[in-house]
Amino acid sequence: MTFRGWRLDKTDGVFNCALTDLDEAEMMEGDVTLDVQYSTINYKDGLAMTNAGPVVRRWPMVPGIDFAGTVTSSEHRDFKAGDAVVLNGWGVGEVHWGGLAEKARVRGDWLVPLPKAFTPAQAMTIGTAGYTAMLCVMKLQDHGVVPQDGDVLVTGAAGGVGSVAVAILASLGYRVRAATGRESDASYLKELGAAEIVPRAELSEKGRPLGKERWAGAVDAVGSHTLANVLAQTKYGGTVAACGLAQGADLPSTVMPFILRGVTLAGVDSVMCPKPVRLKAWQRLGECLPLSKLEAITSTVGLAEARRVAEDIMAGKVRGRVVVEISGNADASVS
Ligand code: NDP
Repeated sequence: MTFRGWRLDKTDGVFNCALTDLDEAEMMEGDVTLDVQYSTINYKDGLAMTNAGPVVRRWPMVPGIDFAGTVTSSEHRDFKAGDAVVLNGWGVGEVHWGGLAEKARVRGDWLVPLPKAFTPAQAMTIGTAGYTAMLCVMKLQDHGVVPQDGDVLVTGAAGGVGSVAVAILASLGYRVRAATGRESDASYLKELGAAEIVPRAELSEKGRPLGKERWAGAVDAVGSHTLANVLAQTKYGGTVAACGLAQGADLPSTVMPFILRGVTLAGVDSVMCPKPVRLKAWQRLGECLPLSKLEAITSTVGLAEARRVAEDIMAGKVRGRVVVEISGNADASVS
């Protein structure tokens, strides 16, 4: 039996990415098999599908770090045929065949039940970007950052993680400053709940070890000089949740924000995040995410368009979220 899906190959150093027939017999080990209904294009999928970064560590690979689907067969105690489930991370799309295909086989331990608050399409509107944004907000809250402390900054604000972080923080009553290189998108970010736009250039160049205290907390999806400047301008006792590297993986900072202002740099990882925290994040998303705002910034494409979107995301042309509808005619375009 075959099914349609994207296949990434590297033979003698030559990379290939094609929508093709995949053989069920070739699927990787797992105790749950599913029909994938929706996936998304995350930054990491962009890296994988364009061979722009060392995301894929096993060949051939099916990309797609997240998906929502329906169980077709299960040997796992928690799942049975017909169950609706969501998967984020765990190396899927990197070392284990991922979600940009009509079928997936994974370990049941990696799955969470589809939250009651969401349809499969809505769960992927949120996707790994949104679930990571929720983890970042939870990190700020765990470290005691409350709206009364002052503004909270979100960097990479018009991207997937950033957009959802802006929406969640605003709905929780924080005054949100959105740092973006796309100042023409100010109205988009204000619709999501941003109170103020910070031009990306204010943060992206080498800065001073400490600056004026501007925010009580931050969600950083960008890294590099941006994260260094965000730390240098965080208020006494504030917390910065760092999850991304859109500008770079380096952190050209000093210890000054930590030793003179007691600033906390809190790391956020969605991939290996323990299941209880995942379940909590999805529950919190159901409680505090203004879904209609998120749906307004989401576009849906067919499986055949995934590669084009991957190229767009790497070129910084994607705003908000892109859902990939898998069910239906896999080779047709949705939009
Ligand atoms: P997107 O591509 O959707 O968004 C990234 C945003 O970063 C862009 O929209 C842009 O925001 C900003 N940006 C891009 N290039 C630069 C640059 N050179 N300098 C400054 N800002 C830049 O990606 P996602 O939101 O999906 O992911 C964001 C980051 O988070 C990525 O690095 C990703 O790998 C990481 N990530 C990490 C996870 C984890 O588990 N830790 C999980 C998910 C994502 P704007 O247009 O507003 O300027």
